[in-house]
Amino acid sequence: MPDKTLTCKDCGKEFVFTEGEQDFYREKGLQNEPQRCLECRKAKKAAYRNRAPKNEQ
Ligand SMILES: [Zn+2]
Repeated sequence: MPDKTLTCKDCGKEFVFTEGEQDFYREKGLQNEPQRCLECRKAKKAAYRNRAPKNEQ
């Protein structure tokens, strides 16, 4: 499977869904292609992590 160019749902930028990632998704049995670019996925993860209470000084 060749690399695929998808459009990020969040920022609207195009990103590449690489052959390796497609394999990964297939292995996991995921039917859907990623909706967001890596940056937005990372940002989302970070935001999620930051919701947990943490000690601020
Ligand atoms: Zn994005």
